Amino acid sequence: MAAAHPSVVVIGAGIVGTSIALALRRRGAEVTLVDREAPGHGCSFGNSGAVSAASVAPLAMPGVLSSVPGMLLDSESPLYLPPRYWLRALPWLLRFAASARPARVAAAAARLARLHAGALQAHEAMTRELGVPELFLKRGHLHLYPDAAALAKDGGGWRLREAYGFQAQRLDRDGIAALEPNVSARYTVGMFLADQATILNPLRYVQAMAAAYARAGGRVLRSHVARLAPVSGQWRLQAAGDADGMTFEHAVVAAGAWSRQLLAPLGVRLALESQRGYHVQFQGAREVVSRTVVLADRKVFVTPMEEGLRVGGTVEIGGLEAPPDERRAAVLARIARQNFRHLDGIATTTWMGHRPCMPDSVPVVGPAPGRPGLWVATGHGHLGLTDSLGTAQQIARELLGAPAAAPAGVQHASA
Ligand SMILES: Cc1cc2nc3c(=O)[nH]c(=O)nc-3n(C[C@H](O)[C@H](O)[C@H](O)COP(=O)(O)OP(=O)(O)OC[C@H]3O[C@@H](n4cnc5c(N)ncnc54)[C@H](O)[C@@H]3O)c2cc1C
Repeated sequence: MAAAHPSVVVIGAGIVGTSIALALRRRGAEVTLVDREAPGHGCSFGNSGAVSAASVAPLAMPGVLSSVPGMLLDSESPLYLPPRYWLRALPWLLRFAASARPARVAAAAARLARLHAGALQAHEAMTRELGVPELFLKRGHLHLYPDAAALAKDGGGWRLREAYGFQAQRLDRDGIAALEPNVSARYTVGMFLADQATILNPLRYVQAMAAAYARAGGRVLRSHVARLAPVSGQWRLQAAGDADGMTFEHAVVAAGAWSRQLLAPLGVRLALESQRGYHVQFQGAREVVSRTVVLADRKVFVTPMEEGLRVGGTVEIGGLEAPPDERRAAVLARIARQNFRHLDGIATTTWMGHRPCMPDSVPVVGPAPGRPGLWVATGHGHLGLTDSLGTAQQIARELLGAPAAAPAGVQHASA
């Protein structure tokens, strides 16, 4: 019989692992959350904060493939593949290409819609429970196109959104200017999704979650996990500086883009690749926009973060080891200055993070087949913030079964 309060180690304190640790702890599990860094300093540090429940279209859409060669020749393009990584990227790229078949796109969209369901309400409730309601902004997302032809290129994605009940309002130039007066005249067509939301400081959100988890009696361990191994029906964690290792009844691998390395020695093979993304933040310039604005033709998200205007984007398939390529961040800064007023002369900071991406854009969440007690929660790609709470609910439900009585001092609210 399963223990009422099983011991669980969660590897990775990004938004996904921290959400899982909190959900499990609130349901009474004895949880240890391990990360080599402080919570929230992986990919979850610098994302664009969009809670995009309407993003049901996977990245591999039929039109994407035909546009790839042109993108690779354009130095300002949202996609970049460093030549040193071409061969290593090839197997993943072939899987990505196969995922663009219509039947697979439809299947991926259905699974994404299921995972996104309730995300907006869950994040709103969570920010309130954590005492940081100011981080949740529900003013919609405005997607911009230079003209109707550019919008038509994204037609497949908009039709899928509509099929799942997300209605966008189409705006002309005046409609765009009424919502966002600082956007350049280059953009004449807007698609406004009024229901979507934004987290205005993704790092502070994870930190608030980690603090709530610690207050509820959860343990945080700062250490690099070298190895995970099954020992006598339990999971032994070999962390740096800990020769004996620690054992747990369950292990949840939520190590973002690094999950593949931890899982491969256990025979769990994931087609997981890092899509390196960048942001440039114009310090103190958050008032330039009043909601998430997407320059859809550039695949650039512009967000009024607490500390400044964050301009995020770029897909660079270049692996986990290479240092950030500052030229990619410079492209984002240039695009921002070309398309928004009031950015000249403002100090910027830059950042790069590894999105954990599956070829079909669908995260891997649940028990590892044939490995009792081992759980996987990764592959959230471009939507890990959006799907973090849904993922946590799913893992807690599957790992713990029916809701258990929580120990004294642990809140009953679910994550
Ligand atoms: C530019 C950009 C913009 C984005 N915008 C959005 C957005 O608007 N909305 C959205 O929903 N998503 C967005 N995303 C995606 C989102 O940020 C990711 O999907 C999400 O952060 C993944 O979370 P994670 O917890 O899986 O990974 P991470 O945050 O990377 O966490 C993994 C953790 O595991 C730890 N770890 C790994 N290996 C080990 C080990 N061996 N031992 C110990 N610790 C280990 C790491 O230190 C890290 O802290 C964006 C991403 C980027 C790059």
